[in-house]
Amino acid sequence: MGVPHLRVGEFTIYLLSDGLWRNDGGCMFGIVPRVLWQREHPADERNRVSLGLTCPLVVRGKEAILIDTGIGNRLSEAESEAYCHAEEKLSDGLRELGMEPGDVTYVFLSHLHFDHCGGVVRRDRSGSLKPAFPKARYLIQRGEYDVARNHPNVRLRAAYRHVEQCFEPLKGAIELLDGTGEFVSGVSALVTAGHTRDHQVIVVKGSDGSCFSHLADIVPTRSHIKPAWNQAYDLDPLRTMEEKARLLDKAAEESWWITFAHDDKFLAARIVKTSENRIELAEVVPRAAQE
Ligand SMILES: [Zn+2]
Repeated sequence: MGVPHLRVGEFTIYLLSDGLWRNDGGCMFGIVPRVLWQREHPADERNRVSLGLTCPLVVRGKEAILIDTGIGNRLSEAESEAYCHAEEKLSDGLRELGMEPGDVTYVFLSHLHFDHCGGVVRRDRSGSLKPAFPKARYLIQRGEYDVARNHPNVRLRAAYRHVEQCFEPLKGAIELLDGTGEFVSGVSALVTAGHTRDHQVIVVKGSDGSCFSHLADIVPTRSHIKPAWNQAYDLDPLRTMEEKARLLDKAAEESWWITFAHDDKFLAARIVKTSENRIELAEVVPRAAQE
């Protein structure tokens, strides 16, 4: 069937995935009562909902820019069981495209939670962690990297406990970004904050004016296009709401493709704004059935 993809000007955006996983529904939908979210996202006996790990690969000629890396294969057995994530899948997607991990030139990380950066390393047969994309440069907001390494309190310490394990093997390949900017021609990182203090989304602009954005944890699933549906993890939910409204308005107006980092049904969508000012899905790219 091939990897689902979008065309945005001179870029092809391959919608790679690190497979499905599960996480607590209450954490994913914040203040929204379970009776509302469970209609679309039925919970299992451990209150977990099914989630995706979409990692777009932006290709232009020899450039291959990966956005987020999923969970990867570094979890312990107990963690894999808790999150219901068995295997690393990104390298399978690359293989399907006739590419190898060494072909990835840049990796943008929206933020450093384990479900976005766990795949920067791969555990080999001997059990040691090696860079998963050995020739890539890793583009991370400096503020995110600093907070992740020098967590100021217990809550953040838990959120970033994997960071040393993930970034120690990458050392010289990390490039720290200072705020919003176009860091690869046509590819910009936009600091939104909200979910974490320095969370960034990636925006790809084709020379024909068409546009794509990976909204990462600002709009993680199809249900999070609703204004008040935000994750309990957000450090500043009001900021998430503001940034989301601004980005979704623009996406609707300019007909952007957007990707959902964690939707279990749809990899990407175009949205519209109705006459009552509601954001709705217009066109979707569904996840391949075999996952
Ligand atoms: Zn996430």
